[in-house]
Amino acid sequence: MNKSYQLEATCLTCKGEAYVLARPDLVDKYQEGELVQNVWPDASTEYREIIVGWRTGAYICPMCSLDDE
Ligand SMILES: [Zn+2]
Repeated sequence: MNKSYQLEATCLTCKGEAYVLARPDLVDKYQEGELVQNVWPDASTEYREIIVGWRTGAYICPMCSLDDE
């Protein structure tokens, strides 16, 4: 019933995959248009990036972000 969703994102640069576990009620809130920083105010940047990447398909992993000069 309260099983967490697994949200996956694939890095556009290296094709590496990342995922996070998120509460279904929070995912619903996010999909209804709430900003990621409002839904998960205490989550790490990386956690939020994966969630945004899962939704938009535009995810760059931390390793590749470092190379982005
Ligand atoms: Zn990458």
